[in-house]
Amino acid sequence: MPDELVDGDLRKNDLWDIWFRPGAFAYSRDYEDDMLGLNCAGCEHGEQCRGGCTSMSYTTTGLIHNDPFCFHGIRTRRGVAITTQVGREELVELDC
Ligand code: SF4
Repeated sequence: MPDELVDGDLRKNDLWDIWFRPGAFAYSRDYEDDMLGLNCAGCEHGEQCRGGCTSMSYTTTGLIHNDPFCFHGIRTRRGVAITTQVGREELVELDC
């Protein structure tokens, strides 16, 4: 889990302190549309959706704000952007 997604440890801190710590949850609270990955870049729903499911996005692409399995995104771009082993994003076109 990258440090940017770890905002506290309930074994060490109160939830209140974690939740209200300045700068906490920056990946969501400081979200801007230019944080969208290739799967979501330019999506008209980006501001509300913020790139879909963070867990799905991170575990499948190594990036947040980049959900590859959103049906809207797949239908719109007709493919899924994956992160290659050398860390480059590539669009894999789907026949749909
Ligand atoms: S997950 Fe889907 S709806 Fe949300 S920003 Fe990405 S492409 Fe758009």
